[in-house]
Amino acid sequence: MKKICFFDTKPYDKLYFDEFAQKYGFEMVYCESKLSEKSVVLAKGCDAVVAFVNDSVNAAVVRALLEMNIHIVAMRCAGYNNVDFKEAYGKLHIVRVPAYSPYAVAEFTIAMFLMLNRKLHRACNRVREYNFSLAGLVGTDFYGKTVGVVGTGKIGQVFMDICLGFGMKVLAYDPYPKEREGVRYVSFEELCKNSDMISLHCPLTKESYHIVDEGAIRNMKKGVAIVNTSRGALIDSAALIEGLKDGKVGAAGLDVYEEEGDFFYEDYSGEILQDDELVRLIAMPNVLVTSHQAFLTEEALRNIAETTTENLRQYFAGEPLPNEVCYRCSKNNICKKEHKDRCF
Ligand code: NAD
Repeated sequence: MKKICFFDTKPYDKLYFDEFAQKYGFEMVYCESKLSEKSVVLAKGCDAVVAFVNDSVNAAVVRALLEMNIHIVAMRCAGYNNVDFKEAYGKLHIVRVPAYSPYAVAEFTIAMFLMLNRKLHRACNRVREYNFSLAGLVGTDFYGKTVGVVGTGKIGQVFMDICLGFGMKVLAYDPYPKEREGVRYVSFEELCKNSDMISLHCPLTKESYHIVDEGAIRNMKKGVAIVNTSRGALIDSAALIEGLKDGKVGAAGLDVYEEEGDFFYEDYSGEILQDDELVRLIAMPNVLVTSHQAFLTEEALRNIAETTTENLRQYFAGEPLPNEVCYRCSKNNICKKEHKDRCF
């Protein structure tokens, strides 16, 4: 029976993974720790590792796994910016879940925009104290407004559908445009200049790192609402805080945060949070911070568990790995998976 070491386990992970592990005959070793140079030793004696968004598959972790004779890491997520591909290539296979529910993330994104625009978070708090005043809760209609979508892959496409359903004008920026009715592809600069709302759905790469920085914010419409459900480092938090302070940015919804690895998914309610920028953002009435939650639906969790265990089954069976990624895949798709339909 193959033994799988599962890092950063939460109760809802177990619920779905147990079902599929049983089906495939895997023994799961659930660890609460995040994967790092320190915790990697927990994988000793296992045949594979399952990791998530805030686990670190850096060079030291890759070397340690290889020393333990582990040659596969199954990411139970779509993004893979936390993997040192150069170190892994040729020795450690990295598989992922390319799509589990674009609806989960897209629906969460529109929920954030709606909540911020109609100030539902503030309204709920008020009513709990029997304060039924509407002062300060004025929003705007979404109908007729312009939304800018950065990254129009699986999630971006679903999000654009939702916005079109609201009767919004949709501007899009993506280096690989997928032309479609009702959507106008423009440069990133033009998108910033003309959008009332901006939603980020591109992966974190060298090119997209801090794509929303001081210059981009300066170029945006006054009062713009920005929502990031993609990866934290797409936004320069310091620049966002300045934009919020001077009113250039009217609202921000952050399901992801550049330094989230230190905090998200954990309970710090009894402690003094040491990240001043995060504390500042959480304290603002026109900012919503959630803990990388956009994916969290029953459908998504089931699909994640099913695809991850199927990825592992394919690996152990010596079959092609359609969900494998390497640095050549992520670099303009130059990897042709010529080695028995695997990256190497
Ligand atoms: P996808 O691969 O289907 O689409 C990504 C799109 O971004 C592609 O069309 C690509 O061409 C485009 N892109 C690449 N570089 C870009 C750039 N510099 N500027 C603009 N566009 C660029 O991915 P997806 O499934 O739609 O997921 C998008 C992102 O959402 C993932 O990379 C991941 O980081 C994030 N995500 C977050 C959660 C969450 O719970 N918050 C869950 C799943 C995915």
